[in-house]
Amino acid sequence: MTDRNDDLFDAARAVIPGGVNSPVRAYGSVGGTPRFLARAEGATVTDAAGSVYLDLVASWGPALLGHAHPEIVAAVQEAATRGLSFGAPTEGEVELAALIADRVRHGEVRPVERVRLVSTGTEATMTAIRLARGVTGRDLLVKFAGHYHGHSDGLLAAAGSGVATLALPGSAGVPAPIAAQTLVIDYNSPEALAAVFAEHGDRIAAVIVEASAANMGVVAPVPGFNRLIAETTHAHGALMILDEVLTGFRVHPAGFWGLQQEAGEEYLPDIITFGKVVGGGMPLAALGGRAEVMDRLAPTGPVYQAGTLSGNPLSVAAGLATLRLATPEVYARIDAAAARLSTALDGALTAAGVVHAVPRAGNLFGVAFAERAPRDYAEAQAQQVFRYAPFFHAMREQGVALPPSVFEAWFLTAAHGEAELAAIEAALPRAAEAAAR
Ligand code: PMP
Repeated sequence: MTDRNDDLFDAARAVIPGGVNSPVRAYGSVGGTPRFLARAEGATVTDAAGSVYLDLVASWGPALLGHAHPEIVAAVQEAATRGLSFGAPTEGEVELAALIADRVRHGEVRPVERVRLVSTGTEATMTAIRLARGVTGRDLLVKFAGHYHGHSDGLLAAAGSGVATLALPGSAGVPAPIAAQTLVIDYNSPEALAAVFAEHGDRIAAVIVEASAANMGVVAPVPGFNRLIAETTHAHGALMILDEVLTGFRVHPAGFWGLQQEAGEEYLPDIITFGKVVGGGMPLAALGGRAEVMDRLAPTGPVYQAGTLSGNPLSVAAGLATLRLATPEVYARIDAAAARLSTALDGALTAAGVVHAVPRAGNLFGVAFAERAPRDYAEAQAQQVFRYAPFFHAMREQGVALPPSVFEAWFLTAAHGEAELAAIEAALPRAAEAAAR
């Protein structure tokens, strides 16, 4: 029996490659028809056939406060009445940049003095890399296998997210000389980091790292690893780019960096990238760093970057409203919900006798069908991936929308209250049994 989602998917595939505008939206690894969403509110999404799901995707992260939070919607509506796009500086941009700079602090330590607003996480990391190359006068970039930093040319080698889900080595269409500028090493390996710097140290412009990996499933950095990256890059005159597009303003008011500072792992990245939550569901992302680095961007410096829609007033309004609403209580609520659901997930899979781990990094969590939480890409890929499809569909049939890939984090929102969490918990045992088969 087909429903409205099937009809739309047929129509979509006739005019859109694969029927989707971003590969992770296709149900490539779980099979079936993607849900075409018609609306989203609080902790739920409603598909084109009218089915309502408790949502653990949260638009892949941005919906920290729940979907369509009335105050954020009102802020966007109000901004819209004043004009959709100006291509000129605005007061709101100044406020948002200042708010970001102010939030990313630990005591007196403030790694973000200047902020540039862009429209997507891809742009933020792409610009951060060009800036690091411009500042150092070097070409090589080091990235970690399984980390995803958007879809720009140099960043797709052994990338996570959809590249991992589709089991691709990288992307066609990236010129070999450009791919050769990216050195891919194993995550959580001090030895690999030391080796790449021993061999190429004076040619490396930057190391880019997800603050905590979450695009090959959740893979937390081992204690001290992020600090080691900072020390190693700085000892060789290279920069550390901390990618907080996914983690920033989601795991802690000051991002994963802030969480780690509080835990006593002190280090200073040179450039931090933000996205998702910082735009509250509108297209907005950012990069920030200390003034001497950031001022190398045009128009003050020689590193060019621009955007017709950069700092779009509607996006800025959504970002400002979101960050103002994202109080410490919001994080405490999401932390507690994550602890509760990850315990329930663990319990359900244990009861069903399924080999599994529930990897955690702050309030990020997910599932891995392996003996222990993966520490790197090879371990993440070695898990029993086939167990996820039946698990995913069993949850969906019970009204819970999970990310359609095991290589993604589950995203909670502040709108997931007692009733929602209890309903998700109640769905887990049947899904665990489906995964056991
Ligand atoms: N960096 C990280 C860590 C991400 O998770 C993502 C997107 N999931 C990006 C960069 C790219 O952001 P965007 O999709 O907005 O281009």
